[in-house]
Formats: sequence, C-alpha cells, structure tokens
Amino acid sequence: MDFKIYNTLTKKVEIFKPVKQGVVGIYACGPTVYDLTHIGHMRKYTMDDILKRTLTYLGYEVKHVMNITDVGHLASDADEGDDKLEKGALKSGKSVWDVASQYTDYFFNTTDALNIIRPDVTPRATDHIGQIITMINKLLASKHAYVTQKAIYFDTNTYPNYGMLSGQNIADKQVGVRGEVVTDPDKRHPTDFALWFFCVGHFENHTMRWASPVGENDGFPGWHIECSAMSMHYLGDQIDIHTGGIDHIPVHHENEIAQSMCAHHYNNNEQFVNYWLHYDFLTVDGEKMSKSKNNFYTLDNVRSHQINPLALRLYFMGTSYRKPLNFTWEGAMSANNMYTKIITQAMNLQSGLQSNLASHKSDLWLVDEKYVNDFKQALCDDLNTARALAVVFEMLADKNINDADKYTTLIDMDKVLGLDIEKVVLALSGNISNNIIELAEKRKLAKEIKNYKLADDLRAEIETLGYEVIDTTTDGQDSYKIIKKL
Ligand code: AMP
Ligand code: ZN
Repeated sequence: MDFKIYNTLTKKVEIFKPVKQGVVGIYACGPTVYDLTHIGHMRKYTMDDILKRTLTYLGYEVKHVMNITDVGHLASDADEGDDKLEKGALKSGKSVWDVASQYTDYFFNTTDALNIIRPDVTPRATDHIGQIITMINKLLASKHAYVTQKAIYFDTNTYPNYGMLSGQNIADKQVGVRGEVVTDPDKRHPTDFALWFFCVGHFENHTMRWASPVGENDGFPGWHIECSAMSMHYLGDQIDIHTGGIDHIPVHHENEIAQSMCAHHYNNNEQFVNYWLHYDFLTVDGEKMSKSKNNFYTLDNVRSHQINPLALRLYFMGTSYRKPLNFTWEGAMSANNMYTKIITQAMNLQSGLQSNLASHKSDLWLVDEKYVNDFKQALCDDLNTARALAVVFEMLADKNINDADKYTTLIDMDKVLGLDIEKVVLALSGNISNNIIELAEKRKLAKEIKNYKLADDLRAEIETLGYEVIDTTTDGQDSYKIIKKL
C-alpha cells in the first residue's frame, strides 16, 4: 500500500518513496530546552510519533533523529534578541547547562507520559560543534558565507531557490523583514542569517562558547545550522522526511535548505530533504499556544484536570495535522471519555477471553484483515488520523467479529494509536498477557514432545517477563498455572 503525504516543498500530496528501499530516515526538529514543555509542543511530537509508528506498521525500518537545541536559538527565529538558554539561566539563577538538563528531562517526562516512543538518537547541538564548524567552513570556502565583526552569515543571494519552501520569492521576503531592527550594519541582505555569532558586543559574556571557525574571538552557533549539520551527520546527505511546526517553514527550514544545498554537491534531481512535513498549531482562542503568550498548559495542568495524558493522543488524532486545533478543556474531557470507553471495552473483551481461555487459544486469535486494511488506508491518506479512529470505533461496534479477534485487532491497531491498551488493561485487571500465555502453551507442547531444553528456555523467558509457570495436574492431565512473580 502506498503511503501518501503532503510535501510542503512541492505543495502536493505525494506517494512516499524512500531513498533506500524499506528504510526511512526521519529528522524531527526538537525542543529548545529553556523552559517548560507545553501541550502545544506535544501536538507536534505526538504527530511525529504517529508518523513513525505508521511507517513501522507499514513495514518500514525507521530511523528517527530529533535534536535538542541547547544553544544559539535567539528570542526571534530571525537572529534577533538574546539566546533563549542564556535568558532561561538568568531568569532561574541556574547555569545554562543546568537549565538545559532540567528542561530536557521535563520534555522527556512529558513525551513518556504521552507514550511517545523516544527517538533513536537525540543529539544536542552543544555536542556537535565540530560538525557545525566543518559545515560553516565549507560555506565560507565556497563563498556562500561571509564574515562581519559580529557574526558569520549565510548569503541568501547566493542560493537562487531561497524562498521555495514558503513560496515567497526573495524580493518579497526582504520587503517582509525590512521593518525589523537590523543589529548588524554589515549584514548584506535582511534574509541573510547567522551561522555563527562571535562573543563580542551584546554577546561578549555569552556563557556557552567555543573557538570560532575564523578569527580570534570565541563564538557560538546560530540555530539553523545545527539541524543541517546533525541531520546529515546521522541520516546522510539526503533525508527522507523532515518535520516541524508550520512556524518553521518561512525561516528555520528555508535556511536549513539553503545552507545544506550549498554545502553539498547535489545532482539536479536531488534534494537535501525529499519530504517536508509541517504540523499546524494547537491554539487557544485561535492563537498559537506558546510560552511567550503565556496561554499554555503543561502535563501537570492536564493531570490536575483528571485527564489521562494518553487521552491527548486521541484529542490530537481527531483533527488533521494540517489544520489548527483549538484546545479547550471540554474538548480534552471528551477525548478522555473516548479513551475511557476504549479501555473499558478492551477490558470487557479481555476478561471474557481470560475466563474462557481453553476455547480461545491465543495463537488462533486473528486480526481482522478488512478493518486493518481500512485503518492502514486512512493512515496512508496523508495521515488521516480522524478516519483511522473512525475505523477503530466501527470495528469495535461490529457484531460480526468475535471478541478474540476484536481484541487482537484493537491491540494490533494500538501499535499506531499508542494508547498502551494492553498494558493498561492488564494493569487494571491483573490478568496475564497473550504473549505470556503463548509462551506457556509452547512450553507445554515442548514438554509433550520431550524437548526439555526448549521447555526450560521458555520457562526462563517467562520468568524474565516477571511470571512463573507452575506445573499442575487436572483430571489426570498435565496442565499449568501462571502466576506473577512477587
Ligand atoms: P520550540 O521548543 O519552541 O523550538 O518548539 C518545538 C516544536 O514545537 C517546533 O516544531 C514548534 O513548531 C512546535 N510547537 C511550538 N508550539 C506549538 C503549538 N502551539 N502547536 C503545535 N506545535 C507547536
Ligand atoms: Zn530544526
């Protein structure tokens, strides 16, 4: 089945074709770790998670890289103001390094609570200064970059396609930013952006600093360069999918494309990134939820409203990622009710099966192919999560599927939904999961055919999962009991 996705670069829904067959590299722009993560951010990272789970469900091997911005992101994306990390340190009286570490932990606590699978690699900008400097040197050598007293800039006039992603030509963009305060009189064009700042003037006392690619002064990298340097370092020169919020289209990603395309020698038909994927915002009263507007809610706020963090996943999935989603507590509550409904139904299905194990051998439980197919079709249609959810509910309501298959299908679909249904059901009911039962059944079979080595190995595997099998005799027949180890 073809996976189709809207590509911001071409402005079309396209059939996804990876650079390497069967393998997908995803680079997801990550958090700037200077303040609390809020649920607006979580819409983006949940969608990254759904994308990754979908591609895995479709059979791809996914490598997911997400950066941690811990230096160089100034108050405005267009190189104005203070470094966000330095500001965070000043506000809290902590060191920049402590601020970065504290909010990185906070970020991952939040994503864990939403059952967002951690990326395979989460590189920090400050650990990749070497790669960043190498790239800046390439751009200086090829005259795509120039040096002023204050910074090293990328010269946007040297890249004819600058503005392609946002669909603005460079002249329009330059008019657009003309009103801004240009802090460096030697900057050649308003759209030029800093690859590196020198620790002079305003940045004289900048804490995070390294030897600069040129000159005597220390310095620190600009924000955009980290994503180009780290994405290529971990995923190669051509990246399959690059994600971000829609706010990244006009500046951050435009800049990433310009510097990456100029630092490398691509053939005419090659791109730095083949599919640019952008998620719309979580809003409050129609405005982007953000730290600066102080209209944000954190995981703690969600919990204090008695809303399960996993219900947020359902809330986000109810709307296309390409549309804004206006957050309300009523909306979150109704997602929570939907979540409870799914878990309750899953518990009913599971307890019915559990009390009737003999007639429901778990290896005979089947996923319902038709519904799984509809579910996949919806996801393959530009990640139509709302339709995929509708398929889940249709399947759960279908009287023609037996409970065992219904439960198995739901657990299978949960590989994408990420609601952790089986774990929650088992934790709530104290029941034993299907895979443990399967292992115990295999062990029984191994004993019957006198393969005691295999039987012992299976017992050991069950034990490592926290359970014990106790052999019993029922009506003269060998049987067993599974108990949870204390
Ligand atoms: P930041 O830490 O501000 O760099 O943001 C990290 C990511 O979260 C970026 O991809 C942003 O586009 C995204 N983001 C920030 N606020 C929101 C929001 N209200 N809704 C959706 N995504 C957001
Ligand atoms: Zn980025």
